[in-house]
Amino acid sequence: MESSDFVRLSGIAYESLVNGPGIRRVLFAQGCKHNCKGCFNQDTHSLEGGELVDMDKIICDIKKSFIINGVTFSGGDPLEQADKFSYIAKEVKKAGLNIWTYTGYTFEYILEHKDEKKGWKELLNNIDVLVDGKFDEGKKDDTIRFRGSANQRIIDVQKSLIAGKAVGVES
Ligand code: SF4
Repeated sequence: MESSDFVRLSGIAYESLVNGPGIRRVLFAQGCKHNCKGCFNQDTHSLEGGELVDMDKIICDIKKSFIINGVTFSGGDPLEQADKFSYIAKEVKKAGLNIWTYTGYTFEYILEHKDEKKGWKELLNNIDVLVDGKFDEGKKDDTIRFRGSANQRIIDVQKSLIAGKAVGVES
């Protein structure tokens, strides 16, 4: 691995069952600009907070795990450090693990701005699933899986890139 760079995280869940299917390593990005009303994790908003973590160490730890079958980028918003998360995604894909990413941006907004925002295009090319959109307190629903509010969608990123529009994951 060539990068010895760091990503800013608010935390890591080592074996999560609630951030996508199966047992997953979850990297919680530090930094979010969306300011959703009713956000459950306001400590993750500051772009300067959290902790800088060595990406190659994260990747190495993931590859050493015999238990996890996927990796999830959550937040905060991973899109604010998309260049860093795309590097991690690329390495994790080599180990055959699928990648989910949570973001407050909509898929349409990301598509429209992917060429001007650092790392967005690369991240899209290296993840499997995007759970998109801001948390909407009025549409909060504890009964839906893997999402905080009903407006958020679980999108198959590679199918959506081919179609040029959001395609939901088949359940
Ligand atoms: S996108 Fe997530 S972390 Fe950011 S304000 Fe909204 S709920 Fe909070």
